[in-house]
Amino acid sequence: MPPNPRLQLLFVFAMLVAAFQGFTQHYTSSDPFAVADDNLTPTWEETISIFESLAKACDQAHLIEAGKSDVGRPIHAFILSLSAVELLDLKGLESMRNASGEKLGLLINNAIHPGEPCGVDASIAWIRELIADEEAMQAVLSAMDIAFIPMYNVGGALNRNCCTRANQDGPEEYGFRGNARNLDLNRDFIKMDSRNAMAFVDLFHSFSPQVLIDTHTTNGANYPYEMTLIATQPDKAGPVLGSFIREEMEPALYASMEKRGVPTSPYVYSLGETPEEGIVGFLETPRYSTGYAVLFGCIGFTAESHMLKPFPVRVQATKSFIESVVEFMRVRSDDLMAVRTAEAARWSGVQSVPVRWERTAFSTSLQFEGFESRKEISPITGELRLKYDHTRRWKKEIPYFNQYRTLVESVVPDYWVIPQAWRHVVERLQSNGVTMQAIENDSTMLLRTGYIRGFTSASRPYEGHHLNALDSVEWSVAPVRLYAGDWLITSDQPNLRYLCEVLDARGHDSFFTWNFFDSSMQQKEYFSEYVFEETAAELLASDSLLRYSFEQAKESNLELRQDARAQLNWLYRASPNYEGTAHRYPVFKSISNRQ
Ligand SMILES: [Zn+2]
Repeated sequence: MPPNPRLQLLFVFAMLVAAFQGFTQHYTSSDPFAVADDNLTPTWEETISIFESLAKACDQAHLIEAGKSDVGRPIHAFILSLSAVELLDLKGLESMRNASGEKLGLLINNAIHPGEPCGVDASIAWIRELIADEEAMQAVLSAMDIAFIPMYNVGGALNRNCCTRANQDGPEEYGFRGNARNLDLNRDFIKMDSRNAMAFVDLFHSFSPQVLIDTHTTNGANYPYEMTLIATQPDKAGPVLGSFIREEMEPALYASMEKRGVPTSPYVYSLGETPEEGIVGFLETPRYSTGYAVLFGCIGFTAESHMLKPFPVRVQATKSFIESVVEFMRVRSDDLMAVRTAEAARWSGVQSVPVRWERTAFSTSLQFEGFESRKEISPITGELRLKYDHTRRWKKEIPYFNQYRTLVESVVPDYWVIPQAWRHVVERLQSNGVTMQAIENDSTMLLRTGYIRGFTSASRPYEGHHLNALDSVEWSVAPVRLYAGDWLITSDQPNLRYLCEVLDARGHDSFFTWNFFDSSMQQKEYFSEYVFEETAAELLASDSLLRYSFEQAKESNLELRQDARAQLNWLYRASPNYEGTAHRYPVFKSISNRQ
């Protein structure tokens, strides 16, 4: 034991912690080599050791680090590929993918919500089966490379507990939803507050997948389906990917799940209290994994196994979904490639890009099976409570509201200009593969300049931000002072959809929405009334047009007429004393638009 008394105390504390960890380890440990049919899910350490052993067991498998998580430990990626001879890092992965050229990529992300870990167990079980069958593995990997993130939310996974998924049937222990910063990582793909998201974005662009599966467990209503799916919203995905998802891929996947004996429904986001009145298609904006992926032409599925089905059933359902997607990609690889090419081609030369959607009142009819429900008096509250009856099922057509229309089209300029001062924005653009050119000399450019004419900020934080809701932007052409090293971004590049989504303040998840430009939304200098009185008098005396406008303003505005300070402020804002940069949106656009 160390001689220093403070160190002694620390040492005793460390021993206690170690003993406690030993205890929990013993309690939670699942047999890493068993088939995933128990009510246990592996810890982060066990998971990584399982994936290490899987990588050792197969020449086509490699475990690499994609980056660090907020808790300091690495985020791993497990790669299955016939081309993966020597794979050490993301650079190697990128070269491998470039070399394999026309091969599809499937990315499977697990434990973004570590309380919903069925994808971890399902991935392990599926990989074990695949690598044990040489012929099957050759058939699958001839058509595609596959990347698994064994556990994405490492900090949450380390925060094991028995009970925070209050409405879920198993496993015995699991991680927590929030990461080491208590962020929900499935809201972090655009703002990238977490190091996890930075690692994900690096992996995503190195691997460049055509299909993404993000594995989850539901919240909400009760019904017989073991698996539900949120596909990339087809109208938001656009005419190429959208019709392929809606007409080809979704029907094939639902049929495949049916064939495997796993009843599957679109995600049940009920219009009323129960699904009987209809369900609504979820609009997964780019803060979510699949909403992010589609900005780069990748089709996404959030696989949501049902929370009240036992854990082994959920694992099996998730495994069946992985099988269904792999089978579809293998059989339809040429079509998927053609769709991918057509999607990339459709952005070259477009003059506007949709950045905001709203659901229409239109519905289709969906064959749905539900549990009967009734209302009973609650002995706790004395009020009516909802109760499902598992023994009585109904089957009928219900309305399915999954049609969205474009609300905002962003007109594409020839280029944008962003001052280097906005380095957090620049870093995120660069991480997402946006190419930009540094301006060589200090200069002044005539650019289209937007002023935010009204916005509200949420009063309470959401995922570390007070989200902004935009009212309007007023654009004019003005000279803008720029400095060597500021950035010019041409719109003639493959990541156009991402650029419009984040740079147009009206986008659901624009950088404006997520507070990146908040310091521009504040006036810095003011005036003292007793001094400005004289200045205002001189201004009015020397400028007849100003005098006329001022009288008109007072005429039409009672509040202004009755408020002396407001009148002086009106004149201050019309004077050369007023700063030109308050509420100026610091992303400037070329005067000319893309033709
Ligand atoms: Zn989830």
